[in-house]
Amino acid sequence: MSFSLTEAQAADGLAVARHTLELLRTVPEFGDRYADVAAPGTLAELAALPPLAKDDLNTALAHLEPSAAQGATWLFQSGGSTGAPKVGYAPTGFYMAKVFEHWQPLDRDDVFVNAWGAGRMWGAHFLAAGLADLCGCRVIALGSVTREEYPEWLAFLADRKVTAIGGTPSVLRLWFAHARAAGIELPSLRKVLWLGEAWQPQLEEDLAVVAPKARRHGMFGSTETWVVGSNTPDCPADTFHPFPHQLVHVGDDGLLDFTSLDPAMLNPVLRYRTGDAGELTSCPCGRTGPAMRVLGRRDNVVQVRGLGLHVDELLARVEREPGVTRAQVVITEQGGRAQQVEVLVLGALPDPEALRRELLSATFTLSTAFVHDPEHVRVRVVDALIGNDRTGKTAGFVVREAS
Ligand SMILES: [Zn+2]
Repeated sequence: MSFSLTEAQAADGLAVARHTLELLRTVPEFGDRYADVAAPGTLAELAALPPLAKDDLNTALAHLEPSAAQGATWLFQSGGSTGAPKVGYAPTGFYMAKVFEHWQPLDRDDVFVNAWGAGRMWGAHFLAAGLADLCGCRVIALGSVTREEYPEWLAFLADRKVTAIGGTPSVLRLWFAHARAAGIELPSLRKVLWLGEAWQPQLEEDLAVVAPKARRHGMFGSTETWVVGSNTPDCPADTFHPFPHQLVHVGDDGLLDFTSLDPAMLNPVLRYRTGDAGELTSCPCGRTGPAMRVLGRRDNVVQVRGLGLHVDELLARVEREPGVTRAQVVITEQGGRAQQVEVLVLGALPDPEALRRELLSATFTLSTAFVHDPEHVRVRVVDALIGNDRTGKTAGFVVREAS
């Protein structure tokens, strides 16, 4: 099983894939990459098309500049961690009507806290708002708050008897850890919506104390593909049921790629790879049809305060420095949040501070994530990098807990 849909289920939607292919053929930067490929009439022909990487999609969008058939065209952050934000497009509504047809985690009686950050061209807050609109629930559009504000907001949320909250798992961990620390309980909370990162099992521990009736409801997607699939509390946290307008394929290398079968899709998503590895499997929840199990990133993108840091790009930059033989990125976390990013350097580097300043200004993820505490991005010359005693390998990046 390498596709989420059968030949018959995908047949009509492949017209969208053929149209996307026509668009990609017009992108001058791709040269003759799509010149000799057949317009896909079958799943096998689709699987024969070259996959799109994140940078390819940004290249195509820069040329295509799509716009919505109706209403506004929204620009969101899409991939890339260096320089200015790369841009993905979506129409008002963010394709959530099609999601809502198959997945309704909220109902009219819910009081839903939208805790996804709402600025900096991030998409999740708005797509969650779109879903809430369709569900007809009450919405508290909270966005992100600062450390000092948690107790006061938590008391407000308890007072409002909120029944649902949504955010990235790292942000949710902050909410529930602060609630636990402050002794605040949310007994009416039943639903925790999440998107943007893998579920964090440590969340269950805090939930058991703060909101024992709360269950998780996950979405999987990216700013390029938008929401691909969702799950319920009965599904494993890494397993999602793809929607019929999203075609998921697993390549021979175990990498997932996504093709949009939605004619309203603005991003040219044709065999687009998010960098996640995965498999199609059956879900223990009992729902029939292939479910997508996500096994994690293969492209060395690590989440730092909710933003993707392209470790290989950062290391390549550092290792271009004369005298540097090798570098390693060490991320120190506390309670699931990146506290510090250190670049360890082997070899000679006369002016680590100059390189640090340059990395900060040239790396979008670092400058954005550490805008309030840039001193927590450091460059240090060391005698040895950090190796893994078990595998004997020295990875490009290491994540460790603060001691
Ligand atoms: Zn399931």
